[in-house]
Amino acid sequence: PQNRSVTNVAVLGTTGSIGTATVDVLQNLNRLDPQSGWRLWAASGHRNVDGLLEIVETLAADPDHGSSPIDRGVTPGCNDSRRIPERLVFSDRQAVSEPSALDRLGRAGLDRSNVRFGPDALVDVARADEVDVLVAAIVGRAGLESTVAAVEAGKRVALANKETLVVAGDLVQKKLAQNGGALLPVDSEHSAIFQCIASSHAKPRKLILTASGGPFRSASKSAMAAATPKDALAHPTWQMGPKISIDSATMMNKALEIIEARWLFDVSSDQIEVVIHPQSIIHSMVEFVDGSVLSQMSPPDMRMPIQYALTYPRRLPCPAPELDFRQPSELTLEPADLDRFPALALGFEVARCGGTAGAVVNAANEVAVELFLDEKIRFDQIVPTARKVLECHTFEPSPTLSRLLELDRWARQETRLCTGNVD
Ligand code: NAD
Ligand code: MG
Repeated sequence: PQNRSVTNVAVLGTTGSIGTATVDVLQNLNRLDPQSGWRLWAASGHRNVDGLLEIVETLAADPDHGSSPIDRGVTPGCNDSRRIPERLVFSDRQAVSEPSALDRLGRAGLDRSNVRFGPDALVDVARADEVDVLVAAIVGRAGLESTVAAVEAGKRVALANKETLVVAGDLVQKKLAQNGGALLPVDSEHSAIFQCIASSHAKPRKLILTASGGPFRSASKSAMAAATPKDALAHPTWQMGPKISIDSATMMNKALEIIEARWLFDVSSDQIEVVIHPQSIIHSMVEFVDGSVLSQMSPPDMRMPIQYALTYPRRLPCPAPELDFRQPSELTLEPADLDRFPALALGFEVARCGGTAGAVVNAANEVAVELFLDEKIRFDQIVPTARKVLECHTFEPSPTLSRLLELDRWARQETRLCTGNVD
């Protein structure tokens, strides 16, 4: 096709923490990549009209966006329509029901026909012929259908949405094998493991996931029981969306990452270990059969793993800061406390079981996190609630996608019931 030196990227969840970091990476690649151009072809925000418009306006003012290296500099400052994304999606239909929102979209130079509403529009974007790469950056199970659609369409998928693999890792891997696409991790731990494996050309014996320990790494159980949403949202090393920030505080994030690693790298749960590394510089490690352990290090900045998922196998300059070893620094590793962080054992258990376990635990956790953020349950109820809901369900070893979605709905309802939060 024409203009193939421009890579069309669909970023779903563009207004979020990963989404905005991805836009920054794309703009930087356009300035620095001599071999190709990058275009944000499609973008989505759930109901955040202002957030998405701000991104559209930034790109519309960027002369390098959407042009190939050959075009660049030839027509500087020309008002190229390729700078504006071809497709904008608001997955929440209510978001843009006000006439003022539509007016604002019009003023930003957007053609109304290019703006789509509702969750189905995410799926349409994910499988659109024009899309070369899908960045799956929606939070939670809401990202599942679009990610699966992109895998089915054989796209390159840069996966931030770990919940997709937690809910349906087995099915996604089967679809990937059938359709010949690629699933590249954005999650920093999995990117680190991917980089170590790719550079050693060997099968791993063990994956060692590092965890910062979150805001409650050295907190007592009673302090955790009394934690407010504000305490739990204050992550020491990473700036992230609210759901993953709470997951980091309970260490359910590491549990989800154990499950993600199990499917992504086709290892068994007993080949995975977790170690606490408070500085978040070593993003994870891989042990090989000869006992050699490789690690990947970089400052805690998601733009590095996002960019690698886009440009792999190429490495290019990245806007993330560099490590400075001229300054004294300390990198420490300590064992994880399974007693204060019961999420870890739950993660290993779900990774071992497969089947319907991931969908149930994920749904229960999503609802429990919302209830905690709304101050309806205590912090130390989140993980026990997820376990309780898991234990209430009848395990099935090889569910279909529609069965998993059914169980997701059931587990959400069950979580509200067992915490006394039915509206
Ligand atoms: P965020 O809350 O900052 O952004 C979430 C995005 O999803 C927003 O664009 C929002 O509009 C959209 N969204 C929310 N609910 C939706 C729904 N029901 N339907 C469609 N879209 C919806 O979240 P984030 O921190 O960017 O995380 C996104 C994903 O990336 C998560 O799965 C998270 O686990 C993963 N991740 C994030 C980080 C990080 O540093 N933030 C690191 C590793 C992995
Ligand atoms: Mg991570």
